[in-house]
Amino acid sequence: MAPARMGTGLVTQADPTRHDTGPGHPERPERVTAVQERLRASGLTQSCVRITAPACAIADLERVHAVRHVRAMQAAIESGARVLDEGDTRASAGSWAAALEAAGGAVLAARKVWAKEWSNAFVAARPPGHHAERDEAMGFCVFNNVAVAAAHLVEVLGAERVAIVDWDVHHGNGTQHLFERDPRVFYASLHQSPLYPGTGARHERGTGEGEGTTLNLPQPPHAGDAQWLRAFEDELLPALEDFDPRIVLVSAGFDAHADDPLAQTELTTSAFATMTERLLELARSRCEGRLVSLLEGGYDLRALADSVEAHVGALVRA
Ligand code: ZN
Repeated sequence: MAPARMGTGLVTQADPTRHDTGPGHPERPERVTAVQERLRASGLTQSCVRITAPACAIADLERVHAVRHVRAMQAAIESGARVLDEGDTRASAGSWAAALEAAGGAVLAARKVWAKEWSNAFVAARPPGHHAERDEAMGFCVFNNVAVAAAHLVEVLGAERVAIVDWDVHHGNGTQHLFERDPRVFYASLHQSPLYPGTGARHERGTGEGEGTTLNLPQPPHAGDAQWLRAFEDELLPALEDFDPRIVLVSAGFDAHADDPLAQTELTTSAFATMTERLLELARSRCEGRLVSLLEGGYDLRALADSVEAHVGALVRA
């Protein structure tokens, strides 16, 4: 008999401050602290099954990253490097442990939800992941956490089809590139364009056997709830229905919020609740409710906390 479902899993890091990106960096420890405080104050933490993220197995990282990338990140951080790419991706002595936890938390959440021990899950960890390429740290991201989880689901757990929905305001170049040839993983992104990193045009739809399992829905600056939710309802959800996933992963960035300093998109908090509820409906109808969400961007602390509260509230009510 299947084990009884235990509700929403909430995966956090033991010490969110040890990945220290330095003064003035938007991707800062206070992001996760603000999320944790809000989830506690709102009572949502108490409604979840809480667990601390374990370190990711190196074999899990190497399923999507080049061996030399994993080694280079460890060597750079351990030798005291403060920058891991051409400038954006900062590090401190604690960043290696934090990066392993962010990816390890994603794998753990995927395993628990796949096994139906949890109904769904949210991973509140950093560094984020969706810009990290096979052989490159990029855009505040060291390892591609959502890709590591997706590859674990497909290769280790035997998930036939995995959907990744990325509503971070920036395009998830790394995730797209890692799966653009793989028909088992559908990557769908809503993002602002033009904006960093510049990828994610509509005509990028996957290649080879993966043609048709990439969907990019770029939206212009200053688009708001109506425009994003229309694209979500009219294009993203029907494409996911056709793909028929066994589990849905969410690259949940909250930097499309109107108050975010890194973009010009104008979503309200309730748009994140609506997108979450609609994805949960799809997950219920297609994959027994299985949904795992990972924190990506979101750089205004108040908007981030408000949006995560709305998002996790929907997961808990599911
Ligand atoms: Zn972002």
